[in-house]
Amino acid sequence: MSIEQQIQSIRNQIAESEHRYHRQGQVKLLAVSKTKPLSAIEQAYHAGQRSFGENYVQEAVDKIQAAAQSSWCQQPLEWHFIGPLQSNKTRLVAEHFDWVQTVDRAKIAQRLNDQRPSHRPALNICIQVNISHEESKSGIDLNQLSTLAELISKLPNLKFRGLMTIGSKGKASEEFPLMQHAFHHLKNDYPELDTLSMGMTDDMPQAIAYGSTLVRIGTAIFGERDYSQQHH
Ligand SMILES: *Cc1c(COP(=O)(O)O)cnc(C)c1O
Repeated sequence: MSIEQQIQSIRNQIAESEHRYHRQGQVKLLAVSKTKPLSAIEQAYHAGQRSFGENYVQEAVDKIQAAAQSSWCQQPLEWHFIGPLQSNKTRLVAEHFDWVQTVDRAKIAQRLNDQRPSHRPALNICIQVNISHEESKSGIDLNQLSTLAELISKLPNLKFRGLMTIGSKGKASEEFPLMQHAFHHLKNDYPELDTLSMGMTDDMPQAIAYGSTLVRIGTAIFGERDYSQQHH
């Protein structure tokens, strides 16, 4: 299937899960284009896709700039940074992205705030939660959430939008309800929160069942990733 057809198929699957779990119209699709060429993003664009997720800063900035200068890109794209973020890369991310979903410490939040250009709207932020407590994964524990949330909500160049997590294989029915509960609880203090970023190619319906508002889909749209050409 072409990228256009894959996107249509994912949209249908989202609609089916929304219907099944009584969540019609509440789930947005983020197309994860990391390692994929600009031509793949162009094809997704022609299928109506406008929101893209990227993990590697330099690769992403190259694509963001190339898309902005291309003739096919007539409407604004929304770029989400979804990879691990080191403090020496925050400036490029603050300058080029619309969202950062992987904030997991105060220092990164503070730098993104300080480095956000004044001509751009506030940078949308999700806190990444390590719900599985696996050491290999980034993100904070739920017991650290309120402290980081309070800090982010006070930074004027950031807009706190919600939570993000990466589920572990086969653990969706354990982990996703915990995220759903944490998100609802956090909304008592921050009613403006509207984003629970949860669900990838392998666990999308379960994520929608447990309240995801944003699914991050790479493989099911663009095919398997080839890392052999990469230099990170
Ligand atoms: C790569 C990636 C995705 C997409 O994963 P697929 O399994 O290819 O859909 C989603 N979220 C994050 C944080 C990623 O790094």
